[in-house]
Amino acid sequence: MITVAREPGWRLASARRAVALAVAFILACGSSARASNKVKLHGYITARVDDKTVQILDDRLETTPASRVFIQDGSGEHPMKSEELAVGMLVDAEGQWLDRHKFFAEKITVDLREGDKKVRGTAYLQEEPADANKIAAGQPGQLKLDGYLLEVGRNTKREWNVAKATASSAGGNVTAGQLAACHVKYTATLRKDGRMDAEQVDLEPPASADAYKMPHDIQVVRAKDAQTGINILEFRQGKKVQGRLKLLEERSVQEYVSHLGDSLLPAGAEGTSRPIEFRFFVVEDPEINAASLPDGTMLINTGLLGAIQNESQLAFVMSHEIAHVLQAHYKREVDETRGQRVGLTIAGIVAGAFIGDVGLFMAGMGIASVVNGHQRELENQADRLGLQNVIEHGYDPREAPNFSRLIINRYGDRTTSKLWSNHDSSLIRGSFLTIQLERAYPGRNWDGTKKNTKAFEDMKEDLGPVKIM
Ligand SMILES: [Zn+2]
Repeated sequence: MITVAREPGWRLASARRAVALAVAFILACGSSARASNKVKLHGYITARVDDKTVQILDDRLETTPASRVFIQDGSGEHPMKSEELAVGMLVDAEGQWLDRHKFFAEKITVDLREGDKKVRGTAYLQEEPADANKIAAGQPGQLKLDGYLLEVGRNTKREWNVAKATASSAGGNVTAGQLAACHVKYTATLRKDGRMDAEQVDLEPPASADAYKMPHDIQVVRAKDAQTGINILEFRQGKKVQGRLKLLEERSVQEYVSHLGDSLLPAGAEGTSRPIEFRFFVVEDPEINAASLPDGTMLINTGLLGAIQNESQLAFVMSHEIAHVLQAHYKREVDETRGQRVGLTIAGIVAGAFIGDVGLFMAGMGIASVVNGHQRELENQADRLGLQNVIEHGYDPREAPNFSRLIINRYGDRTTSKLWSNHDSSLIRGSFLTIQLERAYPGRNWDGTKKNTKAFEDMKEDLGPVKIM
């Protein structure tokens, strides 16, 4: 989704679950759970306050000698000291709220995987690497990859055969010699300055063409409702219309969002022959969410536009979604978690009706994760790339975690909506963005970067009040 954040390991198991979980970029937060005694918090440690206290975004987690702290690994849970809790660790905390943003942790479980300094990663190049020739020649160079800047040194092991990676038999989707869209596997270590020292980089072919196709030969087509003449998006399978979404009528808003989306596409994203066509549509949907379909169609909900505060936030959300597409996350999920595409289970639509639940509809196509969020690893990758992209476009990246804060503070108390039934997502997202900013851009001063524009304010005015849930 746009950014929809979800629990780690979350899998789309069933349509029922999809409905229960359906949602937003940033989902809900914790306050709804604050009324009950036992509460769970899940997020990355963003700061250490003192010996007994760590912080996850704005929430302080206090421990006492009675608190139990464990590290979890493949072989189970092992006790550790609370002093060993460190920034960057992904933790699960059980306890109680003492006050607003003040939490007493009875038990903290650390999932160390995300705290490691050594990264083994895999990503598609989102643009043509400037130092491609140097890297191919065994010389030092830089490689922008996976939301990081990798320093490829003389000692970096490399499998970098351009002809082999771009041979037409491989993926058939790149022009010979052009590397944007190619796959790179790497091992690297994070440096103090936020760059990565690459130990190994391996260049591989791009994803196959069907990685960027909608499943079941579905086509997403802009159309007009025959009776009312209003603008809609149709999901067609052959001649059969499987679903329809209502587009926002305000043309100026559609144009603003399209413009912004185009301006955010990484250089070269369309220069390759990847079968992606980025198209940006504002759909009438009160959920604070956006979704990118495998073929580059992006759905921006009116609820998102209503809630979002400035252009930096929107640019981040859209950059995150663009990364989901360019990184072929839908295909990766099929490959890595489900093994095969699921069958089409859309019930069909009543004439003239619109899709009532987008999450359920996408689940019926087997792509619920575009709305509900992908696995944590893929969401984090989209966040890293999204941050890098907004920074390169001159935006203030602090607005990315600020959007998580907005959701937590503004909507966290709502318990009536299914959107807020899961308190994890905004906290995980906001805390991950916070540590990633500190990790990859340590000490950077963001004053003077772009936060908002007149075009955004004009869009908000044209949008007017919208329903948000
Ligand atoms: Zn996402």
